[in-house]
Amino acid sequence: MSVFYKEESGIGFITFDQPDSKVNVLSAATLVSFDKILDDLKNKSLKALVIQSAKKDIFIAGADIKEIETITEENDAKSKAQAGQQVMNKLEDLPFPTVAVIDGAALGGGCELALACRYRVMTFNDKIRMGLPEVNLGFVPGFGGTWRLPRLVGLQQGLKMIVSGAPINPQAAFKCGLVDRLYPAVGLSERVREFVEQIAAEPGQRIFKPPVLKGLAGFLDQNPLGQSMVYKKTIESVQKATKGFYPAPLRAVDVIRKTKYLPREQALDIESSAFAQLAITPTSKNLVKVFYLAEKYKKLSVPGTEGIKPAGVVKAGVIGAGVMGGGIAQLLSNRGVWTRLKDINQEAIAKGLAAAYDIYAQAVKRRKAKPYEVAAKMAMITGTVDYTGFSDADIVIEAVVENLDIKKKVFTQTSQLVGPKTILASNTSSLPVTEMARVSKDPTKVIGFHFFNPVHRMPLIEIITTEFTSPQTLVATVEFAKKLGKTPVVVKDAPGFLVNRILLAYINEAGRILDEGGSIEQIDGFATRFGLPMGPFTLSDEVGLDVGVKVLHVLEAGLGPRFKPSQIFDDIGPKKLLGKKSGKGFYIHGRQRVVNEEVQSLIKSRNRASEQEAVERMIYIMVNEAAMILQEKVVDGPDAVDIGMIMGTGFPPFRGGLLRYADTVGIDGLVDSLEKYEARFQDGRFKPCSYILELKKNGKRFYS
Ligand code: NAD
Repeated sequence: MSVFYKEESGIGFITFDQPDSKVNVLSAATLVSFDKILDDLKNKSLKALVIQSAKKDIFIAGADIKEIETITEENDAKSKAQAGQQVMNKLEDLPFPTVAVIDGAALGGGCELALACRYRVMTFNDKIRMGLPEVNLGFVPGFGGTWRLPRLVGLQQGLKMIVSGAPINPQAAFKCGLVDRLYPAVGLSERVREFVEQIAAEPGQRIFKPPVLKGLAGFLDQNPLGQSMVYKKTIESVQKATKGFYPAPLRAVDVIRKTKYLPREQALDIESSAFAQLAITPTSKNLVKVFYLAEKYKKLSVPGTEGIKPAGVVKAGVIGAGVMGGGIAQLLSNRGVWTRLKDINQEAIAKGLAAAYDIYAQAVKRRKAKPYEVAAKMAMITGTVDYTGFSDADIVIEAVVENLDIKKKVFTQTSQLVGPKTILASNTSSLPVTEMARVSKDPTKVIGFHFFNPVHRMPLIEIITTEFTSPQTLVATVEFAKKLGKTPVVVKDAPGFLVNRILLAYINEAGRILDEGGSIEQIDGFATRFGLPMGPFTLSDEVGLDVGVKVLHVLEAGLGPRFKPSQIFDDIGPKKLLGKKSGKGFYIHGRQRVVNEEVQSLIKSRNRASEQEAVERMIYIMVNEAAMILQEKVVDGPDAVDIGMIMGTGFPPFRGGLLRYADTVGIDGLVDSLEKYEARFQDGRFKPCSYILELKKNGKRFYS
């Protein structure tokens, strides 16, 4: 809640400090108490009102998402937004200067509250982000942000922040005029008092104005023709990025365009209507669920291991300097971990180092890193053809070729060389980690640590435990994944683990639809129209057809004939069409990508599945596989499946996740469809698994 006090100097302070919580959020109750303080202040005479937070690294994290999540009626949503808007208006209308002191995250409603102040000051604090991320939850800002932000920072910057939902850091906030002053955190209260004295000397006016844009930027911001160009460009790029699946960013553009020149009350009415219409949609409800899911896994703690406090990872060894090893070394060095990169010869090491450097070079090009930082970070990676420097590593990550015999040799050898505290992790995509543990000196230290490609971009890590893995090893590895900025999901050692097992069920089913007479491009189109980031054949080409087929064989051997590669994968194998890396696969990857007619012409049948059938088969076969994963307790619940598929494959967040989508379809409908396809193909691959049948029998869903 918020409390008010007035100093002798005449400065009033409101401090947000929500009890029993690490963060402040603008819940309905908090807004009511804040509103009451503002009412009391209306007739008071203050030199200035300072609004601050008592929480570390948080100003105000936003509106209370739990309250928004439960709203199902448009009228309720509109009233909720209007209630917030009225409080912000009251703050804006106070007769004395108001200053938001931001020494922590100011997001969503928190940012909107700061926008309603006359001034904003911020600290140089790496953890601060300020912005309006509402579109990521499927709605537009509803407490006046769409109207105030573009007025303060200019049309282009305001649009960019609202439409992308990406918050900005203190330097960027100062540069665009979102905040008036940046101060060091030390001595902040003195600096704020000095600032108040300065502004109080010139009452009633803003002495620090946002930067005036000149030249082309000024034309685009202020000239009606320039503005219409800005709107057009923004709409085009939003349409390209969202493919029509996420309505909120486009609606935000529409709101800003309509309200740009309207007085406050009319503008805010348009904003609250847009908020209300979007906040009750299934898309928004799913995005909110995915937000909670992502938060849960970002902070994942393994149940039953609360007392274990692992030492952090400072030094690592990476074995194998290939596609993955180079990427892993780059990530580790970027996160401050000293890394020894081992391969069998200098040439391979040089390739790995070059791959790591390339990732940094791209960051420099995009102005995300400075050359001197890159030099310092690259210096944290050193190459070796032997195991020198491995003995005191906190973790060794094996990323050699996907061959169990070679991996077992590497584990036998490495486990003899390293110290007792070293964790031995494998980046295998499909091979049994248990087998690697068995040949290691201390199997309790062995674990799977499965990155996705490209390592620096993909947020997921599957952490694979065996029957030998100790809780200490598990906790230390989970903590390390978080330190690397990744989302960990804990999976038991089983063929294909979690993501690849489900994904290959999908790719293989697409292969069968193609075998029956489908078209490569059309089937890919069905998948992307469902919302998947790429179609199954595009994905196969990206991953490499050799890799995909190899994993299919592992799955077939471990899980049975439902993973027998479809005919097209068998036919394409000997042709050395590996996909993107060899320039040809299902597509020819030239300057312009075109379907590889050599592959399409292998299809002789002419039985094209309809879009509905193709999508059902590709998606429901994944659902059935995921249910088997739950049945076998490979992961601990539907949350793990959904976060794995969203973070590991880009399964569309607006669908809420694979199993949440299955719940939307309904278990009865799902079983009917699976049984229909099972009756048609009679090879067991669509046979609903007992987990799903049990759900149906008990009238349950994946999520209760
Ligand atoms: P890669 O072929 O690009 O690199 C493997 C490297 O290991 C080569 O440089 C090779 O010289 C080296 N190597 C082989 N034996 C070695 C040994 N005994 N000691 C040291 N180095 C040795 O392979 P990659 O694509 O980087 O895959 C590596 C591992 O990561 C595999 O287990 C793979 O399944 C897994 N993986 C790959 C991807 C992917 O998309 N490429 C994704 C996730 C996981």
